[in-house]
Amino acid sequence: GDCAHEEMKNALIQTEGVCKSYFSAGGMGTDVLFDINLTIEKGEFVSIMGPSGSGKSTLMHILGFLDTATEGVYLYKNNRMKEMDEDELARIRATEVSFVFQSFNLLPRTTVMENVLLPLLYHPVIPPAARQELALRAIRSVGLEDRATYMTNQLSGGQQQRVAIARAMANSPAIILADEPTGNLDLGTGREIIDLLWKMREESGVTVIASTHDMKMLAKSDRVVWIRDGRIERIEKREDLKISIGTIEGEEE
Ligand code: ADP
Repeated sequence: GDCAHEEMKNALIQTEGVCKSYFSAGGMGTDVLFDINLTIEKGEFVSIMGPSGSGKSTLMHILGFLDTATEGVYLYKNNRMKEMDEDELARIRATEVSFVFQSFNLLPRTTVMENVLLPLLYHPVIPPAARQELALRAIRSVGLEDRATYMTNQLSGGQQQRVAIARAMANSPAIILADEPTGNLDLGTGREIIDLLWKMREESGVTVIASTHDMKMLAKSDRVVWIRDGRIERIEKREDLKISIGTIEGEEE
């Protein structure tokens, strides 16, 4: 009815029956994702939870335009990915979607500032004169203004992940896709990174999609997508998670 239609219109991301198979040179296929139906609204904080090898990264790569579905429909802002031309795909990759990785993926022997400037250098709209200030603003928002001229390899893991988040946010994307963002961090530092992603969403309305093993991530998520063997097992809203995350929230007292 009207409601369903309205929901569809507002969705940032929608997948219908998305499947993914990888094919080797010999033509043998490995099926990795099956019938993924997922709708994500603008500004949501969604966790994708599941064991290693369950297909989380593959799904994130499809949602972030780094890979394509073998079957099914991926709609971004109501436009079918399969109907987008190379210019449109390049524009979305450069302006709408940012990634944060488990291993930070910063350039070594390069300053924090230079790393955060990177996504602005190839941005089709942001004028060169605005780059420095936007990068500084992003560095400030992650609390690293006193480290802007440091080399990234002079920073702790938690600080490096903050730089990665600043880099991801510098061009004001619609989505941050964070692939196991706390996977290389100790518990306390991991929690700081989760809190920072949450703060980014609160301040800018960016949509956060994070794959994780980290139960602490769940306490900040609007919804949790449980994935196993390439299939969505269930999708839970945060309020339905209360019991399972009760102990996590209790720790904060
Ligand atoms: P997760 O992120 O949940 O650990 P992945 O999406 O990385 O899971 O992997 C899901 C499955 O797909 C795994 O069995 C993995 O071996 C396989 N896979 C991932 N990338 C490739 C690839 N490029 N070629 C073939 N198989 C792959």
